Amino acid sequence: MERHTPDAGFEEVVDATLHDQRGWMRAGFRFVRADDESAPYRIVLGEAAEVQELCRPYDVFGKYSCQNGPVVALNAPRWRQATPEWTGDLATYRQMLVNHEVGHLLGMHHPKMQCPRAGRPAEVMAQQSTELRGCLPNPWPLPDEVARAARHDQPLAPPFSR
Ligand SMILES: [Zn+2]
Repeated sequence: MERHTPDAGFEEVVDATLHDQRGWMRAGFRFVRADDESAPYRIVLGEAAEVQELCRPYDVFGKYSCQNGPVVALNAPRWRQATPEWTGDLATYRQMLVNHEVGHLLGMHHPKMQCPRAGRPAEVMAQQSTELRGCLPNPWPLPDEVARAARHDQPLAPPFSR
């Protein structure tokens, strides 16, 4: 009998999200999976303490995910449950988390306004885990975000974002 843990399928979700036609590939990025040490970037699902460690010297207060140089560290408790503020379903939350933190890896920043127009989809780089402010939950980069990322004018893997 196969035993399913809450984290089963993590790699598949990351893979599917990064290779989705609605994702960052639209900005001209190509994602290649390598399950060995040769991979220049890592996406890790970790318990709160492990994520805290991977995000050092920055504090993620045991609850945030982060991108710290070449490492994207996703907070497992949130991966399993999303947040109370999230109004979408869990599968969508996971796609959002991957695209948001990988967006930081690609040099993307949080928007100046969290939700410029209520009732419209949030930017994937908005801090949707914390508050939607009337925007709709959205796991995919909006056209403007794709256009910004497509300029490739930001260094990859900046020091730290969450
Ligand atoms: Zn962020």
